[in-house]
Amino acid sequence: MFDLSGRVVLVTGASRGIGRAIALELGRAGAAVAVHYHHRADRASEVVNTIEGLGAAARAFAADISDRGQVDALLRAVGEWKGRLDGLVTSAGIFRGPSVEEVDAADWTELIATDLEGTFRSVQAALPYLRRSDQAAIVTVSSVLGSHPAVGGVPYQAAKGGIEQMTRALAIELAPAIRVNAVAPGFIRTDINRTGHEDPTFHDQVARATALRRWGEPEDIAPAVRYLLSREADWVTGIVLGIDGGIALR
Ligand code: NAD
Repeated sequence: MFDLSGRVVLVTGASRGIGRAIALELGRAGAAVAVHYHHRADRASEVVNTIEGLGAAARAFAADISDRGQVDALLRAVGEWKGRLDGLVTSAGIFRGPSVEEVDAADWTELIATDLEGTFRSVQAALPYLRRSDQAAIVTVSSVLGSHPAVGGVPYQAAKGGIEQMTRALAIELAPAIRVNAVAPGFIRTDINRTGHEDPTFHDQVARATALRRWGEPEDIAPAVRYLLSREADWVTGIVLGIDGGIALR
């Protein structure tokens, strides 16, 4: 089930957190994994070595995902690596949580350039390669905040809402050749929200608000991405799959 042998998949933001867990899961499924990272070559090497230890191929690729030229160069390098690309997972992203009044032009530009435009440009630059695959699939990464608003971080929530509609629009435009789906995680313990989950009060608030009464781990998200890339999901496109412990039920 959910075998990805013979596929080549790029995971952005794969040096840590949710992207890292996805990259390892895809390696476990037999895919050759292009491990994208920003600055931390040491962390990307650790992911590559772990995937190779699982018996799959992997290579690290650096790029600033908010820079269109670097994204284009990234996709060219990944496309040349194995001469094909079958999957793209766009996990690279940042979070900022200021109030509306505190958001300045630079905050807005950085957030939108990284989370929203970075996702779009990654997809666009991957298309020449994905179009040559007979099993092409894309998984974008939204958030429960993409459809369930919270106080603070309007640019982030706007970007994630945009990613969800972008996913549906891409799914219809790229069908039937390329399937496009999103995952929308709830609160997952990673570096992006370290100050939140290390604060006992906030930690407990989130756990209480989550129907399944705990924060998520990156490994809670990865199997769903493996499924969405696999043949078993051949008739699935344009969905936003919430994986959030039930926090969206509130
Ligand atoms: P993380 O901070 O551990 O990982 C983010 C990754 O994105 C890192 O590898 C980082 O290097 C990369 N990145 C950030 N800016 C970049 C840039 N300009 N260029 C290249 N790479 C860049 O956090 P995470 O929780 O693993 O986040 C992964 C994705 O999951 C993000 O899109 C985030 O919005 C989403 N998400 C996270 C949560 C959560 O609670 N952790 C919830 C919902 C959605």
